[in-house]
Amino acid sequence: MRQPNIVVIGSLNMDIVVEAPRFPQVGETITGTRAHFIPGGKGGNQAVAASRLGAHTVMVGMVGDDAFGGALTQSLADNQVVTKRVTKTSDAPTGLASIMIAHDDNHIVVVPGANALCLPENIEGLEETIAAADLVLLQLEIPLETVVASAQLAKRHGKTVILNPAPAQKLPLGLMQSVDYMTPNRSELYLLTGIDPYGDGLEKAIDALLEMGPRCVVTTLGAAGSVYKESGKNLVSVPAHHVQVIDTTGAGDAFNAGLGYALSIGYELDKAVRFAGKVSALAVTRFGAQAGMPTLDEVKAFAL
Ligand code: ATP
Repeated sequence: MRQPNIVVIGSLNMDIVVEAPRFPQVGETITGTRAHFIPGGKGGNQAVAASRLGAHTVMVGMVGDDAFGGALTQSLADNQVVTKRVTKTSDAPTGLASIMIAHDDNHIVVVPGANALCLPENIEGLEETIAAADLVLLQLEIPLETVVASAQLAKRHGKTVILNPAPAQKLPLGLMQSVDYMTPNRSELYLLTGIDPYGDGLEKAIDALLEMGPRCVVTTLGAAGSVYKESGKNLVSVPAHHVQVIDTTGAGDAFNAGLGYALSIGYELDKAVRFAGKVSALAVTRFGAQAGMPTLDEVKAFAL
Protein backbone atom coordinates (compact mmCIF):
# COMPACT_ATOMS: atom_id res chain seq x y z
CA MET A 1 0.00 0.00 0.00
CA ARG A 2 1.29 3.49 -0.86
CA GLN A 3 2.22 5.58 2.18
CA PRO A 4 -0.14 8.56 2.37
CA ASN A 5 1.31 12.04 2.70
CA ILE A 6 -0.30 14.37 5.24
CA VAL A 7 0.62 17.97 6.06
CA VAL A 8 -0.48 19.36 9.42
CA ILE A 9 -0.39 23.15 9.78
CA GLY A 10 -1.01 24.23 13.36
CA SER A 11 0.03 24.71 16.95
CA LEU A 12 2.78 23.28 19.13
CA ASN A 13 2.44 23.71 22.89
CA MET A 14 4.17 22.35 25.95
CA ASP A 15 1.49 21.27 28.44
CA ILE A 16 2.71 21.90 31.97
CA VAL A 17 0.46 19.79 34.15
CA VAL A 18 0.51 20.35 37.92
CA GLU A 19 -1.45 18.09 40.26
CA ALA A 20 -2.49 19.43 43.68
CA PRO A 21 -4.78 18.25 46.50
CA ARG A 22 -7.00 21.29 45.88
CA PHE A 23 -6.96 24.59 43.98
CA PRO A 24 -5.24 27.45 45.83
CA GLN A 25 -7.25 30.52 46.87
CA VAL A 26 -6.40 33.81 45.20
CA GLY A 27 -2.99 34.92 46.55
CA GLU A 28 -2.37 31.58 48.31
CA THR A 29 0.60 29.22 47.71
CA ILE A 30 0.10 25.50 48.23
CA THR A 31 2.30 22.44 47.66
CA GLY A 32 1.45 20.29 44.68
CA THR A 33 1.94 16.54 44.39
CA ARG A 34 3.22 16.00 40.85
CA ALA A 35 4.24 17.89 37.70
CA HIS A 36 4.44 16.67 34.11
CA PHE A 37 5.76 18.29 30.94
CA ILE A 38 3.69 16.90 28.10
CA PRO A 39 4.12 17.78 24.41
CA GLY A 40 0.80 19.05 23.08
CA GLY A 41 -0.96 21.59 20.90
CA LYS A 42 -3.64 20.39 18.51
CA GLY A 43 -1.29 20.60 15.52
CA GLY A 44 1.45 18.57 17.20
CA ASN A 45 -1.02 16.01 18.53
CA GLN A 46 -2.60 15.47 15.13
CA ALA A 47 0.80 15.21 13.44
CA VAL A 48 2.01 12.56 15.90
CA ALA A 49 -1.25 10.64 15.55
CA ALA A 50 -1.10 10.66 11.73
CA SER A 51 2.55 9.59 11.78
CA ARG A 52 1.95 6.72 14.20
CA LEU A 53 -0.75 5.45 11.88
CA GLY A 54 1.88 5.33 9.15
CA ALA A 55 1.40 8.52 7.16
CA HIS A 56 4.42 10.44 5.93
CA THR A 57 3.61 13.51 8.02
CA VAL A 58 5.01 17.02 7.71
CA MET A 59 4.41 19.45 10.59
CA VAL A 60 4.24 23.15 9.79
CA GLY A 61 4.34 25.40 12.85
CA MET A 62 6.41 27.66 15.04
CA VAL A 63 8.23 27.31 18.35
CA GLY A 64 10.37 29.65 20.41
CA ASP A 65 14.17 29.44 20.52
CA ASP A 66 14.04 27.81 23.95
CA ALA A 67 14.16 24.45 25.71
CA PHE A 68 10.43 23.73 25.25
CA GLY A 69 10.72 24.42 21.52
CA GLY A 70 13.61 21.96 21.32
CA ALA A 71 11.72 19.34 23.32
CA LEU A 72 8.57 19.65 21.17
CA THR A 73 10.54 19.36 17.95
CA GLN A 74 12.40 16.34 19.30
CA SER A 75 9.16 14.69 20.34
CA LEU A 76 7.80 15.12 16.80
CA ALA A 77 11.02 13.73 15.33
CA ASP A 78 10.93 10.77 17.74
CA ASN A 79 7.54 9.99 16.23
CA GLN A 80 8.91 10.19 12.66
CA VAL A 81 7.16 13.50 11.93
CA VAL A 82 9.12 15.61 9.42
CA THR A 83 10.12 18.80 11.30
CA LYS A 84 11.94 20.80 8.64
CA ARG A 85 8.94 23.18 8.42
CA VAL A 86 8.86 23.80 12.19
CA THR A 87 10.35 27.29 12.42
CA LYS A 88 12.15 28.60 15.49
CA THR A 89 11.59 32.25 16.42
CA SER A 90 13.43 34.36 18.97
CA ASP A 91 10.53 36.85 19.06
CA ALA A 92 8.28 34.78 21.36
CA PRO A 93 8.55 31.81 23.71
CA THR A 94 7.18 28.41 22.75
CA GLY A 95 3.42 28.16 23.27
CA LEU A 96 2.33 26.56 26.49
CA ALA A 97 -0.70 25.40 28.38
CA SER A 98 -0.60 25.65 32.17
CA ILE A 99 -2.94 22.95 33.46
CA MET A 100 -3.74 22.63 37.15
CA ILE A 101 -5.55 19.47 38.20
CA ALA A 102 -7.30 18.87 41.55
CA HIS A 103 -10.08 16.36 42.28
CA ASP A 104 -10.58 15.55 38.57
CA ASP A 105 -11.25 19.21 37.84
CA ASN A 106 -8.87 21.42 35.95
CA HIS A 107 -7.95 25.04 35.40
CA ILE A 108 -6.20 25.72 32.12
CA VAL A 109 -4.42 28.82 30.82
CA VAL A 110 -3.05 28.65 27.27
CA VAL A 111 -0.38 31.13 26.18
CA PRO A 112 -0.02 30.95 22.36
CA GLY A 113 3.52 32.44 22.30
CA ALA A 114 5.26 31.46 19.06
CA ASN A 115 2.04 29.96 17.64
CA ALA A 116 0.69 33.50 17.31
CA LEU A 117 3.66 34.34 15.06
CA CYS A 118 2.90 31.55 12.61
CA LEU A 119 1.74 34.04 9.96
CA PRO A 120 0.65 33.64 6.32
CA GLU A 121 4.21 34.38 5.11
CA ASN A 122 5.23 31.10 6.74
CA ILE A 123 2.88 29.34 4.35
CA GLU A 124 4.26 31.03 1.23
CA GLY A 125 7.26 28.72 0.90
CA LEU A 126 5.10 25.62 1.15
CA GLU A 127 4.11 25.13 -2.50
CA GLU A 128 6.20 21.98 -2.90
CA THR A 129 5.23 20.53 0.46
CA ILE A 130 1.52 20.97 -0.29
CA ALA A 131 1.90 19.77 -3.87
CA ALA A 132 3.30 16.50 -2.51
CA ALA A 133 0.51 16.05 0.05
CA ASP A 134 -2.65 13.95 -0.21
CA LEU A 135 -4.41 15.84 2.55
CA VAL A 136 -3.98 18.92 4.74
CA LEU A 137 -5.12 18.97 8.38
CA LEU A 138 -5.94 22.34 9.96
CA GLN A 139 -7.14 23.53 13.38
CA LEU A 140 -7.61 27.01 14.91
CA GLU A 141 -4.73 27.46 17.38
CA ILE A 142 -2.66 29.58 14.98
CA PRO A 143 -3.76 32.95 13.51
CA LEU A 144 -6.94 32.66 11.46
CA GLU A 145 -5.37 34.40 8.44
CA THR A 146 -2.77 31.60 8.33
CA VAL A 147 -5.48 28.96 8.43
CA VAL A 148 -7.24 30.75 5.56
CA ALA A 149 -4.00 31.01 3.53
CA SER A 150 -3.28 27.32 4.17
CA ALA A 151 -6.73 26.18 3.05
CA GLN A 152 -6.52 28.32 -0.08
CA LEU A 153 -3.06 27.01 -0.95
CA ALA A 154 -4.23 23.43 -0.46
CA LYS A 155 -7.27 24.05 -2.68
CA ARG A 156 -5.10 25.62 -5.42
CA HIS A 157 -3.25 22.32 -5.48
CA GLY A 158 -6.51 20.34 -5.48
CA LYS A 159 -5.82 18.75 -2.08
CA THR A 160 -8.35 17.45 0.42
CA VAL A 161 -8.66 19.76 3.45
CA ILE A 162 -9.94 18.82 6.91
CA LEU A 163 -10.63 21.73 9.26
CA ASN A 164 -11.05 20.88 12.93
CA PRO A 165 -12.65 24.17 14.06
CA ALA A 166 -11.17 24.11 17.57
CA PRO A 167 -10.97 26.09 19.73
CA ALA A 168 -14.39 27.42 18.73
CA GLN A 169 -14.53 30.73 16.93
CA LYS A 170 -16.56 32.37 14.18
CA LEU A 171 -15.11 31.74 10.73
CA PRO A 172 -15.18 33.62 7.42
CA LEU A 173 -17.33 31.98 4.74
CA GLY A 174 -14.37 31.96 2.36
CA LEU A 175 -12.53 29.58 4.68
CA MET A 176 -15.44 27.18 5.02
CA GLN A 177 -15.82 27.13 1.24
CA SER A 178 -12.18 26.00 0.85
CA VAL A 179 -12.69 23.10 3.22
CA ASP A 180 -13.84 19.59 2.33
CA TYR A 181 -14.49 18.18 5.82
CA MET A 182 -15.29 20.13 8.98
CA THR A 183 -15.11 18.28 12.28
CA PRO A 184 -16.68 20.40 15.05
CA ASN A 185 -17.67 18.95 18.39
CA ARG A 186 -21.11 20.00 19.59
CA SER A 187 -20.08 23.25 21.27
CA GLU A 188 -18.08 24.32 18.21
CA LEU A 189 -21.04 23.48 16.00
CA TYR A 190 -23.26 25.64 18.23
CA LEU A 191 -20.92 28.61 18.01
CA LEU A 192 -20.49 28.31 14.24
CA THR A 193 -24.20 28.04 13.45
CA GLY A 194 -26.05 29.61 16.39
CA ILE A 195 -28.33 26.53 16.38
CA ASP A 196 -28.51 24.51 19.59
CA PRO A 197 -27.28 21.02 18.66
CA TYR A 198 -27.78 19.42 22.07
CA GLY A 199 -31.14 17.89 21.36
CA ASP A 200 -33.33 17.70 18.27
CA GLY A 201 -31.32 20.51 16.68
CA LEU A 202 -28.22 18.46 15.87
CA GLU A 203 -29.08 17.74 12.24
CA LYS A 204 -30.43 21.26 11.72
CA ALA A 205 -27.14 22.71 12.96
CA ILE A 206 -25.15 20.37 10.70
CA ASP A 207 -27.32 21.37 7.73
CA ALA A 208 -26.67 25.04 8.52
CA LEU A 209 -22.93 24.41 8.59
CA LEU A 210 -23.09 22.47 5.30
CA GLU A 211 -24.81 25.51 3.76
CA MET A 212 -21.73 27.56 4.68
CA GLY A 213 -19.46 25.58 2.41
CA PRO A 214 -17.83 22.31 3.49
CA ARG A 215 -18.91 19.24 1.55
CA CYS A 216 -19.13 17.15 4.69
CA VAL A 217 -19.55 17.74 8.42
CA VAL A 218 -18.44 15.17 10.98
CA THR A 219 -19.52 16.07 14.51
CA THR A 220 -17.81 14.29 17.39
CA LEU A 221 -19.97 13.55 20.42
CA GLY A 222 -17.44 12.29 22.98
CA ALA A 223 -18.50 8.99 24.54
CA ALA A 224 -21.56 9.01 22.25
CA GLY A 225 -19.38 8.65 19.14
CA SER A 226 -19.97 10.81 16.10
CA VAL A 227 -22.40 11.69 13.34
CA TYR A 228 -21.63 12.72 9.79
CA LYS A 229 -23.53 14.19 6.90
CA GLU A 230 -22.68 15.10 3.32
CA SER A 231 -24.65 17.75 1.44
CA GLY A 232 -27.92 16.32 0.21
CA LYS A 233 -27.49 12.97 1.98
CA ASN A 234 -28.81 11.46 5.21
CA LEU A 235 -27.29 11.93 8.64
CA VAL A 236 -25.36 8.83 9.75
CA SER A 237 -24.61 7.98 13.40
CA VAL A 238 -21.48 6.08 14.38
CA PRO A 239 -21.52 4.87 18.00
CA ALA A 240 -18.37 5.03 20.13
CA HIS A 241 -16.52 1.92 21.29
CA HIS A 242 -16.92 0.95 24.93
CA VAL A 243 -13.47 1.33 26.45
CA GLN A 244 -11.95 1.95 29.86
CA VAL A 245 -11.23 5.67 29.79
CA ILE A 246 -7.94 6.87 31.28
CA ASP A 247 -7.43 10.30 29.67
CA THR A 248 -9.61 11.97 27.04
CA THR A 249 -7.10 14.75 26.30
CA GLY A 250 -6.49 14.72 22.56
CA ALA A 251 -9.48 12.49 21.72
CA GLY A 252 -10.54 14.97 19.08
CA ASP A 253 -7.00 15.14 17.70
CA ALA A 254 -6.82 11.35 17.44
CA PHE A 255 -10.18 11.37 15.65
CA ASN A 256 -9.10 14.01 13.12
CA ALA A 257 -5.80 12.31 12.38
CA GLY A 258 -7.59 8.97 12.00
CA LEU A 259 -10.12 10.49 9.62
CA GLY A 260 -7.35 12.18 7.63
CA TYR A 261 -5.29 9.01 7.43
CA ALA A 262 -8.22 6.87 6.36
CA LEU A 263 -9.38 9.32 3.67
CA SER A 264 -5.80 9.59 2.39
CA ILE A 265 -5.53 5.87 1.83
CA GLY A 266 -8.79 5.95 -0.10
CA TYR A 267 -11.35 4.74 2.44
CA GLU A 268 -14.83 5.94 1.63
CA LEU A 269 -16.34 8.28 4.18
CA ASP A 270 -18.30 5.80 6.30
CA LYS A 271 -15.31 3.49 6.70
CA ALA A 272 -13.06 6.47 7.41
CA VAL A 273 -15.32 7.80 10.20
CA ARG A 274 -15.45 4.33 11.79
CA PHE A 275 -11.67 4.07 11.55
CA ALA A 276 -11.36 7.49 13.27
CA GLY A 277 -13.67 6.23 16.03
CA LYS A 278 -11.31 3.32 16.67
CA VAL A 279 -8.22 5.53 16.71
CA SER A 280 -9.79 7.92 19.22
CA ALA A 281 -11.23 5.11 21.38
CA LEU A 282 -7.75 3.63 21.72
CA ALA A 283 -6.27 7.07 22.46
CA VAL A 284 -8.60 7.65 25.45
CA THR A 285 -7.47 4.39 27.08
CA ARG A 286 -3.98 5.85 27.66
CA PHE A 287 -2.44 8.78 29.49
CA GLY A 288 -1.12 11.74 27.48
CA ALA A 289 -2.34 13.11 24.17
CA GLN A 290 0.66 12.32 21.97
CA ALA A 291 1.85 9.37 24.05
CA GLY A 292 -1.61 7.82 23.78
CA MET A 293 -1.89 7.86 19.99
CA PRO A 294 -2.15 4.30 18.62
CA THR A 295 -0.23 2.67 15.78
CA LEU A 296 -1.92 1.20 12.72
CA ASP A 297 -1.28 -2.33 14.01
CA GLU A 298 -3.03 -1.46 17.27
CA VAL A 299 -6.01 -0.05 15.40
CA LYS A 300 -6.20 -3.16 13.20
CA ALA A 301 -6.00 -5.41 16.26
CA PHE A 302 -8.75 -3.46 18.05
CA ALA A 303 -11.84 -5.64 18.27
CA LEU A 304 -14.90 -4.84 16.15
P1 ATP B 1 -10.93 17.17 22.88
O1 ATP B 1 -11.08 18.63 22.59
O2 ATP B 1 -10.91 16.81 24.34
O3 ATP B 1 -9.81 16.51 22.14
P2 ATP B 1 -13.34 16.84 21.30
O4 ATP B 1 -14.47 17.52 21.97
O5 ATP B 1 -12.74 17.47 20.10
O6 ATP B 1 -12.24 16.46 22.37
P3 ATP B 1 -14.76 14.36 21.53
O7 ATP B 1 -16.06 14.49 20.82
O8 ATP B 1 -14.74 14.45 23.01
O9 ATP B 1 -13.74 15.38 20.85
O10 ATP B 1 -14.07 12.97 21.14
C1 ATP B 1 -13.66 12.67 19.83
C2 ATP B 1 -13.93 11.22 19.54
O11 ATP B 1 -13.20 10.43 20.48
C3 ATP B 1 -15.38 10.80 19.71
O12 ATP B 1 -16.11 11.04 18.52
C4 ATP B 1 -15.23 9.32 20.01
O13 ATP B 1 -15.08 8.60 18.80
C5 ATP B 1 -13.91 9.26 20.81
N1 ATP B 1 -14.18 9.29 22.24
C6 ATP B 1 -14.18 10.35 23.07
N2 ATP B 1 -14.50 10.00 24.33
C7 ATP B 1 -14.71 8.67 24.30
C8 ATP B 1 -15.09 7.68 25.27
N3 ATP B 1 -15.32 8.02 26.54
N4 ATP B 1 -15.22 6.39 24.87
C9 ATP B 1 -14.98 6.03 23.58
N5 ATP B 1 -14.62 6.92 22.62
C10 ATP B 1 -14.51 8.21 22.96
